[in-house]
Amino acid sequence: MTDKTETDFEVIVIGAGVAGIYQIKRLVDLGVSATVLEAAPDLGGTWYNNSYPGARFDSESYTYGYSFSKEVLAEWNWREMFSPQPDNLEYLNFVADKFSLRDHMQFNCRVDAAVFDESANIWRLTVNDGRTLTCSFVVMALGLLSMPTYPKIEGRADFKGQSFHTFDWPHDPPDLSDKRVAIIGTGATAIQVIGEIADKVGDLTVFQRRPNWSAPLNNSKITDSDMARIRARYDEIFETCARTPGGFEHEPDRRGFHEVSREERLSLWDRLYDEPGFGIWLQNFREIFTDDDANAEISDYIADRIRQRVHDPETAETLIPKDHGFGVQRVPLETNYFEAYNRDNVHLVDISKTPLECVTETGLRTTEQDYAFDVIVYATGFDAITGAYDHVDIQGVGGERLRDKWREGPSTFLGVFIHGFPNLLMPNGPQSGSASTNYPRGIEVGVDWVTDFLEHAWANGITRAEATEPAEARWTQHVTDMYSRMLMRKAKSWFTGYNSNVEGHEEGSIRYFVYNGGMPKYVSVINEVAANGYEGLTLSGPGAPGDPSGGAGDRRSAG
Ligand code: NAP
Repeated sequence: MTDKTETDFEVIVIGAGVAGIYQIKRLVDLGVSATVLEAAPDLGGTWYNNSYPGARFDSESYTYGYSFSKEVLAEWNWREMFSPQPDNLEYLNFVADKFSLRDHMQFNCRVDAAVFDESANIWRLTVNDGRTLTCSFVVMALGLLSMPTYPKIEGRADFKGQSFHTFDWPHDPPDLSDKRVAIIGTGATAIQVIGEIADKVGDLTVFQRRPNWSAPLNNSKITDSDMARIRARYDEIFETCARTPGGFEHEPDRRGFHEVSREERLSLWDRLYDEPGFGIWLQNFREIFTDDDANAEISDYIADRIRQRVHDPETAETLIPKDHGFGVQRVPLETNYFEAYNRDNVHLVDISKTPLECVTETGLRTTEQDYAFDVIVYATGFDAITGAYDHVDIQGVGGERLRDKWREGPSTFLGVFIHGFPNLLMPNGPQSGSASTNYPRGIEVGVDWVTDFLEHAWANGITRAEATEPAEARWTQHVTDMYSRMLMRKAKSWFTGYNSNVEGHEEGSIRYFVYNGGMPKYVSVINEVAANGYEGLTLSGPGAPGDPSGGAGDRRSAG
């Protein structure tokens, strides 16, 4: 082993969510000097922050949990098919505590800047508590959806009642029972909140700019005997998730859409609509994602189901999307969402017709009228995928800023490495397989690959690893090309980088955020890169092949 380096840690992981927890587990097991820096007061990431009513998985719980530990699989009991946020947070704490991972985490530590020191091949991280911490490798376990965004309208600070983004729903939840509540937005989050609180609040007014397609979650309890059956099937479950494009047990219907009769299509959809989870989206014909006619037919089908559930025909029409087809944006799953609009205390305001003008002291003003509220809920989404990166001042070689490099959209190699930003790794980065898959399934793949790479680096005395420019350009082009086959490229959603509240992310500025080739293909590509000696990376250090300084060394215990 070479001399101890002068870094504080060999690896610093940023973020203690699903990815950060697993990443630190892998590093601790290897005996590496590593820590996790987390901005929030506790671990859990998305499941710590999003404590709004109705927050829950829309992955089957047992496909969402980690697969890496037989003990965890044996000991943890899921209570619902689609587990609610408090249970999910309990689960992540259970995993962290079981392996004493909290000992390697620091909370209330927001990383404001990360600067690469080329002379020493180390990163210097500035933390909001005033410290500067150094490390050889930084692993960005930032969430895909961790930077909430508010509408760009005047007067938000003037409101005298209580208001918050769903991401920051107070951990001491407000009593809404007699309150007049406004909710802005009708994305996956709002759809969960509205279905949950409609019958628990005094009055609820939903401000909808564009409706979203959604389908029933069909949740149920998991009994002890269900859990025993699930446990017996875990190997099979994870094997299936590893071979399906979305990382679920749902497999696409491989019959050709146009080769089966309309009756057969309807019979499939009738069945899937009433089944739990994403079946209606992911067990459907593959053509619904690529063929306009197929997509129009499934969209008409779902629209009819909405008409059947919403009593007032005008409200039903307002809730049916007209600007995009079913499934080309991420499909929210709902419980009692459409039925909420049949209640006397729930009102729908179509702000595509009467836009929001401002927030007032007493509520909201549209171009048509003033509304008075006690509580305003912003369910207005996220500066997705790259937002969390943009908020850290990341400076690579020659002081280049990542937020400048990614101004028009991310470019990466495999979604893991970035040219110009050596020794910075992203297990669930933009353009990786994680964003378009059942998240933890992608995360385990990403973390394992990153960890294998680090082991390779340590074993071979590699102290600097960077994507080459051509390799990054090829990957980014590949990711871009895959969008050309997908109807999703036409939709305004966070999958294409759309967010009207973020400068430069407005309509018309498509960003190639996610790898659309499916997880199995992604895995085969990244494994091939590793098998070929990490082709596409420039590796240097005392032991790296061709390095003039020569001599392998292992620095993993530094710090
Ligand atoms: P979102 O899908 O981006 O929805 C944001 C909503 O706010 C949209 O209806 C949007 O309208 C509206 N909005 C934004 N700015 C507005 C403005 N200035 N004025 C009026 N309306 C405005 O965000 P989200 O609902 O938080 O969901 C984001 C993602 O989080 C989901 O796609 C999903 O991947 C994830 N999620 C997962 C779960 C789960 O796993 N169970 C649950 C919730 C969310 P426009 O459409 O017109 O822009």
